[in-house]
Amino acid sequence: MRLLLFIISVLTINACQQISKEKPISADEKLSMQLGNATVWFQQSAEMEASFLQAYDKGKMLLKIKMDTLSDSNLKPAVILDLDETVLDNSPYEARLFLKGENYSSESWEKWCNEAQADALPGAVEFLNFADSLGLKIFYVSNRKIGVFEPTLKNLQTLKLPQAEKDHLLLRTTKSDKTERREMVKADHQILLYVGDNLTDYSQVFAERDSTLGKDLVKKHQKELLQNFIMLPNPMYGEWESAVYGNDFSKSATEKLELRKKILESKF
Ligand SMILES: [Mg+2]
Repeated sequence: MRLLLFIISVLTINACQQISKEKPISADEKLSMQLGNATVWFQQSAEMEASFLQAYDKGKMLLKIKMDTLSDSNLKPAVILDLDETVLDNSPYEARLFLKGENYSSESWEKWCNEAQADALPGAVEFLNFADSLGLKIFYVSNRKIGVFEPTLKNLQTLKLPQAEKDHLLLRTTKSDKTERREMVKADHQILLYVGDNLTDYSQVFAERDSTLGKDLVKKHQKELLQNFIMLPNPMYGEWESAVYGNDFSKSATEKLELRKKILESKF
């Protein structure tokens, strides 16, 4: 009996030691796990598929109406689209981060961009071909850095996207604010529609998010947004996230997790 008690106590102590040896989950890993949930939705949910198809279908309807009522102008009609999580599906990159317990870094992102193997998102190719068939000029305005211009162009061409040519791809050189690049296109084009997964893909006005996180701005500009911008869902990352962090993305993972908890309305 004594021997049995001894064996049980030794086994119990070993089990306790085993548990205490398990590495605690770091704040970075917790953030990465939250990204995993968003990535599963974006990459694998039927709801995401339907949302994109619906959004791009509305885009086609708006283009059709706008082309039918186009006023005489020397300016050529055009459409401006963002690339990442608008036309290109980078969810495999986000999946890699989750599976490795990592978060975004410019190194891992550039490696992914250089692979040039992003697929097109649901509805994007059909929308682009429709715009092309209407005679619209298509401009891809993205905040990918200019250093990945060649693989990005190659990716668009591999997907056989219309007007995937050098002059139609405007990447980031110095700043992420897209206003200048939009103005360049506007110099001799009439922009009928913008498409993106960030409100700033439409206007930089939406970068100034205060305590309402930009929701007040959406209300203020609701009419023109619904007429001129196709908003696509992206729960994985975006300006909405930095707004939660007080527009300071350099905060630590622990601070970011705390701010995520703090911002939630639970009606307890
Ligand atoms: Mg984007």
